[in-house]
Amino acid sequence: MKIIVVGSSHGGFETVQESLLDYPDATIQWYEQGDFLSFLSCGMQLYLEGTVKNVDDVSYATPEGMRAKGVEVNLQQAITAINADQHTVQVKDLKNNTTREESYDKLVLSVGAVPFELPVPGRDLENVYAMRGRDWAIKLKAKTVDPTVKNVVVIGSGYIGIEAAEAFAKAGKHVTVVDVLPRLLSLYLDQEFTDQLTAEMQAHNIYPAVGQGVKEYVGVDGKLTKVVTDQAEYNADLVIEAAGIRPNTGWLKDTLQLDRSGRIEINEFLQTSQPDIFAVGDATVVKYAPTGKEMPIALATNARRQGRYAAKNLVTANQPVPAVSGSSALSVFDYHFASTGIKEGTADKMGVKTQSVLVSETYRPHFVPEAENPVVDFKLTFDPETRRVLGAQIMSKADVTANINAISLAIQGKMTIDDLAYADFFFQPGFDRPWNIMNVAAQKAQRLLD
Ligand code: FAD
Repeated sequence: MKIIVVGSSHGGFETVQESLLDYPDATIQWYEQGDFLSFLSCGMQLYLEGTVKNVDDVSYATPEGMRAKGVEVNLQQAITAINADQHTVQVKDLKNNTTREESYDKLVLSVGAVPFELPVPGRDLENVYAMRGRDWAIKLKAKTVDPTVKNVVVIGSGYIGIEAAEAFAKAGKHVTVVDVLPRLLSLYLDQEFTDQLTAEMQAHNIYPAVGQGVKEYVGVDGKLTKVVTDQAEYNADLVIEAAGIRPNTGWLKDTLQLDRSGRIEINEFLQTSQPDIFAVGDATVVKYAPTGKEMPIALATNARRQGRYAAKNLVTANQPVPAVSGSSALSVFDYHFASTGIKEGTADKMGVKTQSVLVSETYRPHFVPEAENPVVDFKLTFDPETRRVLGAQIMSKADVTANINAISLAIQGKMTIDDLAYADFFFQPGFDRPWNIMNVAAQKAQRLLD
Protein backbone atom coordinates (compact mmCIF):
# COMPACT_ATOMS: atom_id res chain seq x y z
CA MET A 1 0.00 0.00 0.00
CA LYS A 2 1.24 3.50 -0.80
CA ILE A 3 0.12 6.26 1.58
CA ILE A 4 0.62 9.92 0.78
CA VAL A 5 0.35 12.40 3.66
CA VAL A 6 0.17 16.12 2.85
CA GLY A 7 1.19 18.68 5.49
CA SER A 8 3.77 18.21 8.22
CA SER A 9 2.20 19.93 11.21
CA HIS A 10 0.17 18.24 13.94
CA GLY A 11 -2.30 16.29 11.80
CA GLY A 12 0.23 15.13 9.23
CA PHE A 13 2.75 14.12 11.89
CA GLU A 14 0.25 11.93 13.75
CA THR A 15 -0.99 10.32 10.56
CA VAL A 16 2.54 9.34 9.66
CA GLN A 17 3.33 8.07 13.17
CA GLU A 18 0.21 5.90 13.34
CA SER A 19 0.68 4.64 9.77
CA LEU A 20 4.20 3.50 10.65
CA LEU A 21 2.73 1.41 13.49
CA ASP A 22 -0.33 0.08 11.67
CA TYR A 23 1.13 -0.56 8.21
CA PRO A 24 4.81 -1.45 8.61
CA ASP A 25 5.01 -2.66 5.00
CA ALA A 26 3.44 0.43 3.45
CA THR A 27 5.32 3.05 1.45
CA ILE A 28 4.73 6.37 3.18
CA GLN A 29 5.42 9.59 1.30
CA TRP A 30 5.16 12.77 3.36
CA TYR A 31 4.88 16.16 1.64
CA GLU A 32 5.45 19.64 3.05
CA GLN A 33 5.46 22.77 0.92
CA GLY A 34 7.56 24.72 3.43
CA ASP A 35 11.30 24.28 3.88
CA PHE A 36 11.00 22.96 7.44
CA LEU A 37 9.40 19.78 8.75
CA SER A 38 6.74 19.89 11.42
CA PHE A 39 7.01 23.40 12.88
CA LEU A 40 4.55 23.66 15.78
CA SER A 41 2.99 27.10 16.19
CA CYS A 42 1.90 26.13 19.71
CA GLY A 43 5.50 26.72 20.77
CA MET A 44 5.75 30.20 19.26
CA GLN A 45 5.13 32.13 22.47
CA LEU A 46 7.86 30.16 24.26
CA TYR A 47 10.24 31.05 21.44
CA LEU A 48 9.22 34.73 21.32
CA GLU A 49 9.69 35.05 25.07
CA GLY A 50 13.10 33.34 24.95
CA THR A 51 12.24 30.18 26.91
CA VAL A 52 13.05 28.20 23.77
CA LYS A 53 16.18 29.68 22.22
CA ASN A 54 16.30 28.06 18.79
CA VAL A 55 13.31 28.33 16.46
CA ASP A 56 14.17 24.97 14.91
CA ASP A 57 13.64 23.24 18.26
CA VAL A 58 9.90 24.00 18.03
CA SER A 59 9.21 20.73 16.25
CA TYR A 60 8.68 17.05 17.02
CA ALA A 61 10.28 15.53 13.95
CA THR A 62 13.37 15.96 11.80
CA PRO A 63 13.65 14.83 8.18
CA GLU A 64 16.61 12.60 9.13
CA GLY A 65 14.74 11.00 12.04
CA MET A 66 11.67 10.28 9.95
CA ARG A 67 13.73 8.98 7.02
CA ALA A 68 15.47 6.63 9.45
CA LYS A 69 12.03 5.21 10.23
CA GLY A 70 11.44 4.56 6.53
CA VAL A 71 9.31 7.60 5.65
CA GLU A 72 9.97 9.34 2.33
CA VAL A 73 10.15 12.98 3.45
CA ASN A 74 9.65 15.62 0.75
CA LEU A 75 10.23 19.24 1.72
CA GLN A 76 9.44 22.27 -0.44
CA GLN A 77 7.13 20.08 -2.47
CA ALA A 78 3.52 21.14 -2.73
CA ILE A 79 0.63 18.95 -3.79
CA THR A 80 -1.17 21.17 -6.28
CA ALA A 81 -3.88 18.90 -7.71
CA ILE A 82 -5.54 15.53 -7.16
CA ASN A 83 -6.97 13.17 -9.73
CA ALA A 84 -9.21 11.07 -7.50
CA ASP A 85 -10.34 8.70 -10.27
CA GLN A 86 -6.80 7.78 -11.20
CA HIS A 87 -5.53 7.99 -7.61
CA THR A 88 -2.73 10.39 -8.49
CA VAL A 89 -1.51 13.72 -7.16
CA GLN A 90 0.44 16.44 -8.89
CA VAL A 91 3.59 17.39 -7.01
CA LYS A 92 5.24 20.74 -7.57
CA ASP A 93 8.88 20.80 -6.54
CA LEU A 94 9.31 24.38 -5.35
CA LYS A 95 13.10 24.17 -5.35
CA ASN A 96 13.49 23.67 -9.09
CA ASN A 97 9.98 24.57 -10.28
CA THR A 98 9.27 21.16 -11.79
CA THR A 99 6.09 19.11 -11.68
CA ARG A 100 5.54 15.36 -11.50
CA GLU A 101 2.80 12.87 -10.77
CA GLU A 102 2.70 10.41 -7.88
CA SER A 103 0.18 7.63 -7.41
CA TYR A 104 -1.41 6.73 -4.08
CA ASP A 105 -3.63 4.06 -2.64
CA LYS A 106 -4.63 6.26 0.29
CA LEU A 107 -4.20 10.01 0.58
CA VAL A 108 -4.41 11.99 3.85
CA LEU A 109 -4.67 15.77 3.72
CA SER A 110 -3.62 17.81 6.75
CA VAL A 111 -3.24 21.04 4.84
CA GLY A 112 -4.33 23.24 7.74
CA ALA A 113 -5.02 26.92 7.49
CA VAL A 114 -3.47 30.34 7.08
CA PRO A 115 -4.19 33.44 9.16
CA PHE A 116 -7.21 35.42 8.02
CA GLU A 117 -6.10 38.67 6.39
CA LEU A 118 -8.34 41.62 7.25
CA PRO A 119 -9.75 43.10 4.02
CA VAL A 120 -8.95 46.70 4.98
CA PRO A 121 -7.03 49.47 3.21
CA GLY A 122 -3.34 49.57 4.14
CA ARG A 123 -2.78 45.81 4.40
CA ASP A 124 0.21 46.10 2.10
CA LEU A 125 2.06 48.45 4.46
CA GLU A 126 5.27 47.25 6.07
CA ASN A 127 4.90 45.70 9.50
CA VAL A 128 1.52 44.00 9.12
CA TYR A 129 2.33 40.57 10.55
CA ALA A 130 0.60 37.34 11.55
CA MET A 131 1.29 34.70 14.21
CA ARG A 132 1.48 31.26 12.66
CA GLY A 133 4.29 29.14 11.31
CA ARG A 134 8.08 29.32 11.41
CA ASP A 135 8.58 32.26 9.03
CA TRP A 136 6.36 34.56 11.06
CA ALA A 137 7.95 33.27 14.27
CA ILE A 138 11.37 34.43 13.05
CA LYS A 139 10.07 37.81 11.86
CA LEU A 140 8.13 38.43 15.07
CA LYS A 141 11.11 37.50 17.22
CA ALA A 142 13.14 40.21 15.47
CA LYS A 143 10.43 42.76 16.30
CA THR A 144 10.47 41.89 20.00
CA VAL A 145 14.02 43.28 20.17
CA ASP A 146 13.60 46.11 17.64
CA PRO A 147 13.82 49.41 19.56
CA THR A 148 11.90 51.26 16.83
CA VAL A 149 8.86 49.14 17.62
CA LYS A 150 7.19 50.79 20.58
CA ASN A 151 3.48 50.36 19.90
CA VAL A 152 2.06 47.01 18.90
CA VAL A 153 -1.57 46.49 17.94
CA VAL A 154 -2.87 42.92 18.02
CA ILE A 155 -6.08 42.28 16.11
CA GLY A 156 -8.11 39.50 17.70
CA SER A 157 -8.32 38.48 21.34
CA GLY A 158 -8.49 34.71 21.06
CA TYR A 159 -5.69 32.74 22.66
CA ILE A 160 -3.30 33.38 19.75
CA GLY A 161 -3.81 37.15 19.96
CA ILE A 162 -3.34 37.10 23.73
CA GLU A 163 -0.17 35.00 23.41
CA ALA A 164 1.19 37.59 20.96
CA ALA A 165 0.14 40.46 23.22
CA GLU A 166 1.81 38.93 26.27
CA ALA A 167 5.06 38.17 24.40
CA PHE A 168 5.33 41.77 23.19
CA ALA A 169 4.31 43.28 26.54
CA LYS A 170 7.03 41.21 28.20
CA ALA A 171 9.43 42.60 25.57
CA GLY A 172 8.60 46.10 26.87
CA LYS A 173 6.17 47.20 24.16
CA HIS A 174 2.90 49.07 24.63
CA VAL A 175 0.25 46.66 23.33
CA THR A 176 -3.33 47.36 22.28
CA VAL A 177 -5.65 44.43 21.58
CA VAL A 178 -8.53 45.24 19.22
CA ASP A 179 -11.55 42.96 18.98
CA VAL A 180 -15.07 43.37 17.58
CA LEU A 181 -16.35 41.28 20.47
CA PRO A 182 -17.15 43.05 23.74
CA ARG A 183 -14.54 41.31 25.93
CA LEU A 184 -11.04 39.91 25.55
CA LEU A 185 -11.01 36.08 25.32
CA SER A 186 -14.81 36.11 25.30
CA LEU A 187 -15.10 32.85 23.33
CA TYR A 188 -13.06 31.04 26.00
CA LEU A 189 -14.25 32.55 29.28
CA ASP A 190 -17.26 34.27 30.79
CA GLN A 191 -17.12 37.77 32.19
CA GLU A 192 -16.29 36.82 35.81
CA PHE A 193 -12.98 35.52 34.48
CA THR A 194 -12.21 38.00 31.72
CA ASP A 195 -12.72 40.99 34.06
CA GLN A 196 -9.87 39.71 36.23
CA LEU A 197 -7.68 38.85 33.25
CA THR A 198 -8.25 42.21 31.60
CA ALA A 199 -7.15 43.98 34.80
CA GLU A 200 -4.08 41.72 34.92
CA MET A 201 -3.24 42.57 31.31
CA GLN A 202 -3.71 46.31 31.85
CA ALA A 203 -1.33 46.09 34.80
CA HIS A 204 1.21 44.67 32.34
CA ASN A 205 0.88 47.26 29.55
CA ILE A 206 -1.79 45.52 27.44
CA TYR A 207 -4.82 47.69 26.71
CA PRO A 208 -8.15 46.36 25.44
CA ALA A 209 -9.90 48.11 22.56
CA VAL A 210 -12.97 45.90 22.43
CA GLY A 211 -16.32 46.22 20.70
CA GLN A 212 -14.71 47.89 17.69
CA GLY A 213 -13.83 46.85 14.17
CA VAL A 214 -10.70 47.73 12.22
CA LYS A 215 -11.37 50.13 9.35
CA GLU A 216 -7.91 50.88 8.02
CA TYR A 217 -4.16 50.63 8.49
CA VAL A 218 -2.51 54.01 7.94
CA GLY A 219 1.16 54.57 7.12
CA VAL A 220 3.77 57.09 6.09
CA ASP A 221 6.21 56.23 3.28
CA GLY A 222 4.90 52.67 3.12
CA LYS A 223 5.42 52.12 6.85
CA LEU A 224 2.57 51.51 9.25
CA THR A 225 1.89 54.25 11.78
CA LYS A 226 -1.71 53.82 12.91
CA VAL A 227 -4.63 51.43 13.15
CA VAL A 228 -7.99 53.11 12.66
CA THR A 229 -11.10 51.42 14.03
CA ASP A 230 -14.75 52.51 13.84
CA GLN A 231 -14.23 54.18 17.22
CA ALA A 232 -10.63 55.32 17.65
CA GLU A 233 -7.09 55.47 16.29
CA TYR A 234 -4.13 53.66 17.80
CA ASN A 235 -0.43 54.35 17.19
CA ALA A 236 1.17 51.26 15.72
CA ASP A 237 4.68 50.32 14.63
CA LEU A 238 3.59 46.72 14.24
CA VAL A 239 0.24 45.01 13.68
CA ILE A 240 -0.25 41.34 14.44
CA GLU A 241 -3.37 39.93 12.84
CA ALA A 242 -4.82 37.08 14.88
CA ALA A 243 -8.42 37.33 13.81
CA GLY A 244 -9.13 33.76 12.79
CA ILE A 245 -7.99 31.47 10.04
CA ARG A 246 -8.81 30.50 6.48
CA PRO A 247 -8.51 26.84 5.44
CA ASN A 248 -5.78 26.08 2.88
CA THR A 249 -8.26 24.46 0.53
CA GLY A 250 -8.88 26.75 -2.45
CA TRP A 251 -7.07 24.28 -4.73
CA LEU A 252 -9.41 21.44 -3.68
CA LYS A 253 -12.76 22.97 -4.56
CA ASP A 254 -13.17 21.04 -7.82
CA THR A 255 -12.03 17.74 -6.30
CA LEU A 256 -13.64 17.44 -2.88
CA GLN A 257 -16.81 18.62 -1.22
CA LEU A 258 -16.07 21.70 0.88
CA ASP A 259 -18.45 23.44 3.26
CA ARG A 260 -19.42 27.10 2.95
CA SER A 261 -16.34 28.24 4.84
CA GLY A 262 -14.09 26.16 2.57
CA ARG A 263 -13.44 23.40 5.11
CA ILE A 264 -13.20 19.87 3.76
CA GLU A 265 -16.32 17.82 4.46
CA ILE A 266 -15.52 14.54 6.21
CA ASN A 267 -17.46 11.69 7.76
CA GLU A 268 -16.87 10.21 11.21
CA PHE A 269 -14.05 8.05 9.77
CA LEU A 270 -12.29 11.16 8.38
CA GLN A 271 -13.12 10.20 4.78
CA THR A 272 -13.80 13.03 2.35
CA SER A 273 -16.28 12.87 -0.51
CA GLN A 274 -13.67 10.58 -2.11
CA PRO A 275 -13.42 7.50 0.13
CA ASP A 276 -9.68 6.94 -0.41
CA ILE A 277 -8.91 10.56 0.47
CA PHE A 278 -8.97 11.43 4.16
CA ALA A 279 -8.70 14.88 5.75
CA VAL A 280 -7.81 16.02 9.25
CA GLY A 281 -6.93 19.14 11.23
CA ASP A 282 -7.77 22.81 10.88
CA ALA A 283 -8.99 22.36 7.30
CA THR A 284 -11.88 20.24 8.62
CA VAL A 285 -14.54 20.32 11.32
CA VAL A 286 -14.98 18.24 14.46
CA LYS A 287 -18.02 16.82 16.22
CA TYR A 288 -18.70 18.97 19.30
CA ALA A 289 -19.57 16.70 22.23
CA PRO A 290 -21.88 19.11 24.12
CA THR A 291 -24.25 19.48 21.15
CA GLY A 292 -23.36 16.59 18.86
CA LYS A 293 -23.10 19.09 15.99
CA GLU A 294 -20.16 19.70 13.71
CA MET A 295 -18.10 22.85 14.09
CA PRO A 296 -14.61 24.13 13.40
CA ILE A 297 -12.31 24.04 16.45
CA ALA A 298 -8.74 24.75 15.42
CA LEU A 299 -6.67 22.94 18.02
CA ALA A 300 -3.59 20.78 17.78
CA THR A 301 -5.29 18.23 20.03
CA ASN A 302 -8.07 17.78 17.48
CA ALA A 303 -5.67 17.56 14.53
CA ARG A 304 -3.62 14.94 16.35
CA ARG A 305 -6.60 12.82 17.35
CA GLN A 306 -7.96 12.98 13.81
CA GLY A 307 -4.56 12.10 12.35
CA ARG A 308 -4.44 8.94 14.47
CA TYR A 309 -7.98 7.94 13.50
CA ALA A 310 -7.48 8.70 9.81
CA ALA A 311 -4.54 6.28 9.78
CA LYS A 312 -6.50 3.60 11.67
CA ASN A 313 -9.35 3.92 9.16
CA LEU A 314 -7.27 3.84 5.98
CA VAL A 315 -7.91 0.20 5.09
CA THR A 316 -11.17 -0.54 6.89
CA ALA A 317 -13.11 2.56 7.82
CA ASN A 318 -14.81 1.39 11.00
CA GLN A 319 -13.43 3.46 13.87
CA PRO A 320 -15.38 6.69 14.40
CA VAL A 321 -13.34 9.56 15.81
CA PRO A 322 -14.61 10.62 19.27
CA ALA A 323 -16.41 13.93 19.73
CA VAL A 324 -14.49 16.76 21.43
CA SER A 325 -15.30 19.72 23.65
CA GLY A 326 -12.70 22.31 22.58
CA SER A 327 -10.70 22.03 25.78
CA SER A 328 -7.93 24.60 25.97
CA ALA A 329 -5.71 26.29 28.54
CA LEU A 330 -3.51 29.36 28.73
CA SER A 331 -1.46 31.36 31.19
CA VAL A 332 -1.82 35.13 31.19
CA PHE A 333 1.00 36.52 33.34
CA ASP A 334 0.31 35.10 36.84
CA TYR A 335 -3.06 33.55 36.01
CA HIS A 336 -3.67 30.09 34.59
CA PHE A 337 -7.02 29.25 33.07
CA ALA A 338 -8.66 26.45 31.14
CA SER A 339 -12.08 25.90 29.70
CA THR A 340 -14.07 23.26 27.91
CA GLY A 341 -17.47 22.95 26.31
CA ILE A 342 -20.25 25.53 26.45
CA LYS A 343 -19.97 28.80 28.39
CA GLU A 344 -22.82 31.03 29.48
CA GLY A 345 -21.56 33.49 26.87
CA THR A 346 -21.63 30.98 23.99
CA ALA A 347 -24.80 29.04 24.86
CA ASP A 348 -27.20 31.29 22.95
CA LYS A 349 -25.11 31.11 19.79
CA MET A 350 -25.19 27.32 20.05
CA GLY A 351 -28.95 27.35 20.58
CA VAL A 352 -28.63 25.58 23.92
CA LYS A 353 -30.47 26.41 27.14
CA THR A 354 -28.06 26.33 30.07
CA GLN A 355 -27.62 27.28 33.69
CA SER A 356 -24.34 27.85 35.48
CA VAL A 357 -22.93 28.01 39.00
CA LEU A 358 -19.77 29.81 40.05
CA VAL A 359 -17.65 28.70 43.00
CA SER A 360 -14.75 30.77 44.29
CA GLU A 361 -12.74 29.29 47.11
CA THR A 362 -9.13 28.99 48.16
CA TYR A 363 -7.01 26.41 46.44
CA ARG A 364 -6.19 24.56 49.67
CA PRO A 365 -7.69 24.42 53.23
CA HIS A 366 -7.92 27.67 55.23
CA PHE A 367 -5.00 26.75 57.49
CA VAL A 368 -2.53 26.94 54.57
CA PRO A 369 -0.81 30.39 54.59
CA GLU A 370 -2.51 32.93 52.33
CA ALA A 371 0.57 33.50 50.18
CA GLU A 372 0.48 29.84 49.11
CA ASN A 373 -3.26 29.62 48.89
CA PRO A 374 -4.67 31.63 45.98
CA VAL A 375 -8.37 31.70 45.13
CA VAL A 376 -9.70 29.34 42.47
CA ASP A 377 -12.71 30.37 40.38
CA PHE A 378 -14.66 27.52 38.82
CA LYS A 379 -17.82 27.80 36.76
CA LEU A 380 -19.89 24.79 35.79
CA THR A 381 -22.45 24.98 32.99
CA PHE A 382 -25.20 22.38 32.59
CA ASP A 383 -28.54 21.67 30.97
CA PRO A 384 -31.19 22.45 33.60
CA GLU A 385 -33.61 19.89 32.15
CA THR A 386 -31.42 16.86 31.54
CA ARG A 387 -28.88 17.97 34.21
CA ARG A 388 -26.11 17.08 31.74
CA VAL A 389 -22.71 18.70 32.25
CA LEU A 390 -22.04 20.92 29.22
CA GLY A 391 -18.98 22.96 30.07
CA ALA A 392 -16.67 24.47 32.66
CA GLN A 393 -14.08 27.18 33.19
CA ILE A 394 -11.38 27.40 35.84
CA MET A 395 -8.87 30.09 36.73
CA SER A 396 -6.38 30.74 39.50
CA LYS A 397 -2.85 31.86 40.24
CA ALA A 398 -2.31 28.22 41.19
CA ASP A 399 -2.15 25.88 38.24
CA VAL A 400 -5.37 23.89 38.63
CA THR A 401 -6.12 23.77 34.92
CA ALA A 402 -5.97 19.96 34.69
CA ASN A 403 -9.38 19.77 36.43
CA ILE A 404 -10.86 20.80 33.10
CA ASN A 405 -9.75 17.49 31.59
CA ALA A 406 -12.08 15.71 34.03
CA ILE A 407 -14.97 17.92 32.90
CA SER A 408 -14.13 17.23 29.26
CA LEU A 409 -14.43 13.53 30.01
CA ALA A 410 -17.71 14.12 31.84
CA ILE A 411 -19.10 15.91 28.77
CA GLN A 412 -17.90 13.16 26.46
CA GLY A 413 -19.46 10.52 28.73
CA LYS A 414 -22.74 12.50 28.87
CA MET A 415 -22.50 12.69 32.66
CA THR A 416 -24.82 14.78 34.82
CA ILE A 417 -24.26 17.16 37.72
CA ASP A 418 -25.42 14.26 39.94
CA ASP A 419 -22.57 12.08 38.67
CA LEU A 420 -20.13 14.89 39.35
CA ALA A 421 -21.49 16.00 42.75
CA TYR A 422 -20.12 12.99 44.62
CA ALA A 423 -17.50 11.76 42.16
CA ASP A 424 -14.42 10.28 43.80
CA PHE A 425 -11.68 12.93 43.61
CA PHE A 426 -8.58 12.80 45.82
CA PHE A 427 -7.89 15.14 48.75
CA GLN A 428 -4.51 16.11 50.13
CA PRO A 429 -3.97 19.57 51.68
CA GLY A 430 -0.93 20.09 49.48
CA PHE A 431 -3.16 19.88 46.41
CA ASP A 432 -6.76 20.75 47.16
CA ARG A 433 -9.61 20.72 49.71
CA PRO A 434 -11.65 17.82 51.13
CA TRP A 435 -14.27 18.40 48.47
CA ASN A 436 -12.74 19.03 45.08
CA ILE A 437 -14.06 22.27 43.58
CA MET A 438 -15.81 20.24 40.85
CA ASN A 439 -17.78 18.37 43.56
CA VAL A 440 -18.65 21.66 45.26
CA ALA A 441 -19.91 23.24 42.04
CA ALA A 442 -21.99 20.22 41.08
CA GLN A 443 -23.51 20.08 44.59
CA LYS A 444 -24.37 23.79 44.26
CA ALA A 445 -26.00 23.04 40.89
CA GLN A 446 -28.08 20.27 42.50
CA ARG A 447 -29.33 22.66 45.19
CA LEU A 448 -30.23 25.17 42.50
CA LEU A 449 -32.32 22.67 40.57
CA ASP A 450 -33.87 20.60 43.40
P1 FAD B 1 -1.33 23.38 10.05
O1 FAD B 1 -0.65 23.53 11.36
O2 FAD B 1 -1.97 24.56 9.46
O3 FAD B 1 -0.24 22.83 9.03
C1 FAD B 1 -0.53 22.54 7.70
C2 FAD B 1 0.78 22.22 7.01
O4 FAD B 1 0.49 21.75 5.70
C3 FAD B 1 1.68 23.43 6.85
O5 FAD B 1 2.97 23.11 7.26
C4 FAD B 1 1.59 23.76 5.36
O6 FAD B 1 2.78 24.34 4.85
C5 FAD B 1 1.35 22.37 4.77
N1 FAD B 1 0.62 22.38 3.49
C6 FAD B 1 -0.56 23.00 3.25
N2 FAD B 1 -0.96 22.76 1.99
C7 FAD B 1 -0.02 21.99 1.42
C8 FAD B 1 0.13 21.42 0.12
N3 FAD B 1 -0.80 21.60 -0.82
N4 FAD B 1 1.23 20.67 -0.15
C9 FAD B 1 2.17 20.48 0.83
N5 FAD B 1 2.09 21.00 2.07
C10 FAD B 1 0.99 21.74 2.37
N6 FAD B 1 -3.47 24.20 19.54
C11 FAD B 1 -3.49 23.55 20.73
O7 FAD B 1 -4.15 22.52 20.87
N7 FAD B 1 -2.78 24.02 21.80
C12 FAD B 1 -2.02 25.14 21.72
O8 FAD B 1 -1.37 25.55 22.71
C13 FAD B 1 -2.00 25.85 20.49
N8 FAD B 1 -1.27 26.99 20.37
C14 FAD B 1 -1.24 27.63 19.16
C15 FAD B 1 -0.49 28.80 19.06
C16 FAD B 1 -0.44 29.49 17.87
C17 FAD B 1 0.35 30.74 17.77
C18 FAD B 1 -1.15 28.99 16.73
C19 FAD B 1 -1.08 29.72 15.42
C20 FAD B 1 -1.90 27.84 16.82
C21 FAD B 1 -1.95 27.15 18.04
N9 FAD B 1 -2.70 25.98 18.18
C22 FAD B 1 -2.75 25.32 19.39
C23 FAD B 1 -3.48 25.46 17.05
C24 FAD B 1 -2.68 24.42 16.28
O9 FAD B 1 -1.41 24.94 15.96
C25 FAD B 1 -3.43 24.01 15.03
O10 FAD B 1 -4.69 23.54 15.39
C26 FAD B 1 -2.67 22.91 14.30
O11 FAD B 1 -1.42 23.39 13.87
C27 FAD B 1 -3.44 22.38 13.10
O12 FAD B 1 -2.65 21.42 12.48
P2 FAD B 1 -2.89 21.01 10.96
O13 FAD B 1 -2.04 19.81 10.73
O14 FAD B 1 -4.32 20.94 10.67
O15 FAD B 1 -2.41 22.24 10.07
